[in-house]
Parts: sequence; C-alpha cells; structure tokens
Amino acid sequence: MSADQRRSRWRQPWSVGVHLAACVAIVLVVFGGAAAVTGRGMVQHARADARADAGFQAGIAADAASRSLALGQAQIAVLLANPSIPQVIAAKPDCGLNFALDPFAGARLDIVAADGTVICSSAHPGPVTYAGASFVSTFESTGPVRFHDDLTDGAALALAGPVHDANGKLVGGIVVVAPVDGLATRLAAAYGGPQHYRFTITDGGDLLSTSIPARADAGGLLSGSRSLKSTSLRVTAGVSSSSALASTRSALAREALLGAGAVLLILALLAAVNRRIARPLRELTRVVADTATHGAPIRPPSRGVAEIVRLGNHFDRMMAARQTYEGQLTYQMLHDPLTRLPNRVLLTDRLTHALSDASRTGRSVAVLFIDIDRFKLVNDSLGHTTGDEVLTRIARRLGSTIRPGDTLARFGGDEFVVICAGVDGADEVHDLADRLAVTIAIPVETADQILTVTASIGIAIGAASSRPEDLIRDADSAMYLAKDRGRARHELFDDTLRVRAADRLTLDGELRVALERNELRLAYQPKVNLGTGAVVGVEALLRWQHPALGEVSPIDFIPIAEDTGLIVPIGRFVVAEACRQLRAWREQGIDTEVAVNVSGRQLSHPDFVDEVHAIVAEHDVDPASICLELTESVLMIDAPRAIETLRALRSLGFKLSIDDFGTGYSSLAYLQRFPVDELKIDRSFVHDMTHNAGSVTLIEAIIAMGSALGLRIVAEGIETRDQEEQLRRMGCHEAQGYLIARPQPADVVTALLPSTVARAAVD
Ligand code: C2E
Ligand code: MG
Ligand code: MG
Repeated sequence: MSADQRRSRWRQPWSVGVHLAACVAIVLVVFGGAAAVTGRGMVQHARADARADAGFQAGIAADAASRSLALGQAQIAVLLANPSIPQVIAAKPDCGLNFALDPFAGARLDIVAADGTVICSSAHPGPVTYAGASFVSTFESTGPVRFHDDLTDGAALALAGPVHDANGKLVGGIVVVAPVDGLATRLAAAYGGPQHYRFTITDGGDLLSTSIPARADAGGLLSGSRSLKSTSLRVTAGVSSSSALASTRSALAREALLGAGAVLLILALLAAVNRRIARPLRELTRVVADTATHGAPIRPPSRGVAEIVRLGNHFDRMMAARQTYEGQLTYQMLHDPLTRLPNRVLLTDRLTHALSDASRTGRSVAVLFIDIDRFKLVNDSLGHTTGDEVLTRIARRLGSTIRPGDTLARFGGDEFVVICAGVDGADEVHDLADRLAVTIAIPVETADQILTVTASIGIAIGAASSRPEDLIRDADSAMYLAKDRGRARHELFDDTLRVRAADRLTLDGELRVALERNELRLAYQPKVNLGTGAVVGVEALLRWQHPALGEVSPIDFIPIAEDTGLIVPIGRFVVAEACRQLRAWREQGIDTEVAVNVSGRQLSHPDFVDEVHAIVAEHDVDPASICLELTESVLMIDAPRAIETLRALRSLGFKLSIDDFGTGYSSLAYLQRFPVDELKIDRSFVHDMTHNAGSVTLIEAIIAMGSALGLRIVAEGIETRDQEEQLRRMGCHEAQGYLIARPQPADVVTALLPSTVARAAVD
C-alpha cells in the first residue's frame, strides 16, 4: 500500500466509525468516573450511617425501656405540673387537653380515677371505664400497653402513670391513649419513611408488635384487652447500615443498569452507523479509489442503504460528467475547433514524441509546412463561411492522404503541418508532398462555385537531436521559399536556406542604416513599344550596395523592409529619387515615364497618397510621368480600399499599373473596377510560353481582356527574340526584359532614352 493510499484510507468514511467509538469511549470514561465517584460517595455515606445507626441502636437497646417510660412519665409530669390540670380535672368533662408528642399525634389524654373511671378526657366528655385493664387498676404500667379502646372501638396504645395524693395514696392515673390504627403512617410521616425507623412493642420480653417484616409474624398487633406485664415501645429512627448499603447497592445497580443500557444503545447506534453509513461509504470510496487507480468504470456500492446507493449513483453520474467535461476540455485545448485536427500544442507534443522515437529507431522525422496559396483572396471575395468550408474539405482530404502513423495538424489560418515519423530519405518526403499537393489541387465544390486552390509546402527533415520548434521554423522558412519561387510547389529546407535565414537576420539590422549610409540606389530598366521598338519608359528598381555584402537583391531585402515597416521611408526615397531623376532627364531634354514599384504596406499607409503627391510637387514633376506599379496580390488584399486609393492617385494624375498580372487571381469583375492604365504580364508566363501552351493561352486572354478594357499591356521578363516576336504577334503593346536591357544606373540608361531634342531633330 502506498503512502497515498494509506493517507487516503484515513480519509475514508470508516474512520467516522472510529471517531464515534472514540467519542463513546470518552463518554463512558466520563460517566463511569462520575458513577464511581457517586458510588464511592454513597458507600461512604452508607458506612457513616451504619456507624451512626449501630451506635444509635446500641444506645437505644441499653435503656430502651427506661427511656420509653421516662418519656411517658416526663410528659405526664409536665402535664400535671401545669396548674390548669387540677382545674381541668375539677371542671370535668371539658378538659380540652391534647397530647402532641410524636409519634403520638392525635393521641388523647385521659385522667383516670383509681377505680378506673375516666375523670377527664381530651377526646370525649363521657365517662369511660378502664375496667379489666390491670394497669389501669394498679397504674403499674411502665410503658405503653396495647389494648382495645372502647371509645374508638379500635386497637390502642396507652401510656399510664399513677397519680398519688399527698399521703402517697393512689388516687388515679393519667393515661395517654394513642390509636394503633394509622400508627405506621404516622411513624412514617414523622421519620420520613419506613426505611428510617423501626418500632417494636414488647411486654415482659414478649414481642407484641414490630415494623420489622422478618419478625412481624412472631407477634403481631393485639386486639382486645389483656393483662400486660411490663410493656415497652421502642422506636429506632435513622438509617440502618444495611438499608443504606442496600439502597446504595440498588442505586449503583440502577445506575449500572442505566449505564449498561446507554452503552448498549450507543453500541447499537454505532453498529447502525457503521452498517448504514460507514460501510457503504467505505465501499463507495474503495470503488472510487479503484477507479482512480485502474481507470475502471465506476459502479455504485453493491451494499448499503438506498440513500447511499442514490448518493453513489449521483457520484457516479457526477464523475462521468466530470470525465466527459474534462475530456471535452482536453480535446478543446488540443484541437482546432473548425477542422477538429490537432492544434499547435498537440502538434509540438507529437513532434517531441516522434523525435524521441527517432533516437531509438535511428530514422528521421519530416515536417511538412503547408500554406494554401492566396487563401486570403478566397476569404475576402467569397466570405469566411466559404473559406471555412474549403479549409475543412482540404483538412479532410489531407487527413486521408497521410500515412496512419503520421500527424496532420492545423497550425494557423490556412496553414497545416504534417509530421512524418520514421523517414528514411528526402525522396520519400517529396513524394508525400507531391501527393498532398495533388490532393489540395482537386477542385472544391462549395454551395456557390467550384474553387481550385494550390499550396506552397516547406519541408524540414530532422533527427533525434533536432528541437521541435526548430524543425517547424525550418519547414516554415522552406514554405516561404516555395512562395517566393512561384507558389504551388514544395521546397526542402537545406543549408542554403539556413544561411539565407541567418542572412535575413543580418540584413534586417543592416537595412535600418542603409538609407542613412546612402547605400540605396535606383537602377532603371527600359520598356519598349513592341510595335516601334522605341523606349517608352523605364522601371525604377531598387538596388542596395552593401559595403561588405556587395549588391543585395530586392527579392531578399524588400520582404524584410515590408515586414519591418522600413519600406515606408524606403518607398519615399524611391519616389523622391525617381522624381529627382525625371527632373534631371527633363533638364537634359529627355521626357520619359518612370515606373515606381509600390508595396502593399506603402499602399495601405493612410498618408501614402498625400506623401507621393507632395514629393512629386516638391520636385516639380508631372504626376503623369510617374506610373505606380502595384502587384495584383497587393491590390486583392483589400480590393475596395485599394480601389479608393487608386482613384485618389489617378485623380492627381498618376498612371497606375498592375504588376505581375496573372498571379494574383483577381477576377474580371475586379479588373474592371480597378482604375488602372496598364497590365504587366508576369514574367513567369513569358518564361513558360515557349514550352507551355497554357501560358500562351493565358497571355492571349490577358491581352484580349486588357485591350478590351482599354489598358496598355506590357510583358516583362523577355529574354529571347522568340518571346518578343510571339508577344508582338499576340498584340502585346510593350515589353521589358534582359533582351532589351537590364536594369542599369541612370547615366547608362540615359543614352537609351529618346530625347525630345533628338526627336525634334528627326521630325
Ligand atoms: P518587378 O517589379 O516585377 O521587377 C521586375 C523584376 O524582374 C526585376 O527584378 C528585374 O530585374 C527582373 N527582370 C527584368 N527583366 C528580366 C528578365 O528578362 N529576366 C529575369 N529573370 N528577370 C528580369 P529585381 O530588380 O530583382 O526586382 C525584383 C522585385 O523587387 C520587383 O519585381 C519588385 O517587385 C521588387 N522591387 C524592386 N524595386 C522595388 C522598389 O523600389 N519598391 C518596391 N516596393 N519593390 C521593388
Ligand atoms: Mg515592377
Ligand atoms: Mg513584375
């Protein structure tokens, strides 16, 4: 059992039982202690009582008879000492006396003459004769006697004492008569209960009556009168040791019984708690623990009361819901919501695993970075819903093209990445890239139309030592190279590209100071009229003469300038430099048109129109002699806004040209709306026209379409006479290319430009 399990067991519900048992034990100890203290106290009290009782009984036993007699005589003496007694006696029958000695409350006092005639009685006026009662006749009784009282017609006890005259002659007696009926009740009332007193009435050693039940049958109460010898009443009050001990024992027994009952009750309660709650909960906990450990499905406990089962079911549902929720959350965290493909996070994780596997197998891992070409156009022109649909379809197709063990992930908007583990060579990956490209190129049928898209794919192949992020970055760089090289192709990241990527970093830093160091120049490439062969204008092309790197191609540094925003000040420099050159040529009598390339970043700059206008005005140049070239793809990024800017520029008098036409997928509808003067057929079509019938058809279509819209058609990149001838035949208006002239410094180009002076001379 692990430490965790042990800990968790302590947290399990059966510890409730343990805790309850501990509580009960504490209660028992407290109660037991209290009972012991109480019991001990009771025993001590009982012992003290017993000691007192023993002494009391001993004392009573020693002089019981005399004390009893003394009691009676003393009372009688007190009565007789009362000066009213003789008068009472004289004034009979209304004596009005009462005898109030406990336990003789309710007793009557009779004063009796020597012949037994009642002289006076506290209870009745009439004469009563105690005839037959020997004690009355002699008044020799020394204690209470038992006799039948004629007055009350019931058993009575009498205390009699003789009354003598001055000569010592017996003249009568005083008799205190107490009815026996109710004596026990009166004694009990006087002494607080039968356990606190005993009485015995003896006559000459014979037991006449007793309250001790064990000896009661030895005598019993007398009825009727009889001759008594020496009668005594003995009353012992207090608590006897035996009764105290007995009551203590019974109290203890009672408490023990109560305690045992309580313990039994608690035990029963505990058992019920254990059976009804702790056990089912324990079982439930075990089930949950098992589930957590082994991932087994949760089952409610097999035993337990309905409530626990219901609880278990609820818990089960809760856990299931939680598992589902967690599953969903994990899925969402690792997947792209649109295509349901793994996202970047999961991609990196899979790539990490693939690379660690590669260290075991010794094979390579390939990463293919796929970017849909000009996907923004699809979104912008057809809407995001169609865009999403296209992406989803392509994702599905790609998924069915890759091998089962490979991973396809959505990296970003229109970017997908394939991880191919266990690769043995680049050829294998190129084949896969071809297959992927074919899959992507299958037309996608949406609700509105049929679309065909292509993709640029960058490939990076890594070994176990590669880092996932480096591999993805390299594949991304290779993808950009594929874009640069014309899109719809795939490129492998190699050492050249690595150097290029490193150079790009260096270039970025260097370009920032290139303007200040005056390292940027403009080269000019002439443009000729295919009909006349005359140079009708030049295109200004930026050149960077780096002190250490030499001449850096605009293909390398313009994208960096665009990325960093440096293109804006650089663009200003180009326009200003072109204006300065135009001015210079004009001053030399050369009137020509200069084409200036404008990047997307420049075009979207809010001050672009004003700035260009200001520069032109500053150099006192006619805007009509400046043709601003914008690539088709730049215009399509935000066509409506581009149209607005173009209109503003045109209204200022600038000429406008769509550069690299044919590569930007602009629709005819847009072409109509772009307020431009010229279309420049991309040089890739010109390059392909001699061996690709498709390119020829496309060029013919562009020429026909452009001409129909009244646009000037220029073909760029003409390198051969065939190309020139073919384009001329096709009706292309102007041409530009190495065949005619390479981009050259202004002073070199100047010689090629027709001067107005020269033309005037010819004319
Ligand atoms: P582009 O505007 O299409 O320029 C034409 C490119 O084709 C130039 O490349 C030019 O040297 C090249 N070229 C001309 N004739 C031929 C030919 O017969 N065969 C071949 N293979 N190439 C030919 P360059 O000067 O390297 O410029 C490349 C691109 O850089 C330009 O393409 C343009 O997009 C961009 N760029 C150049 N200068 C500037 C600039 O001042 N501003 C901006 N924004 N972009 C510029
Ligand atoms: Mg251009
Ligand atoms: Mg071009």
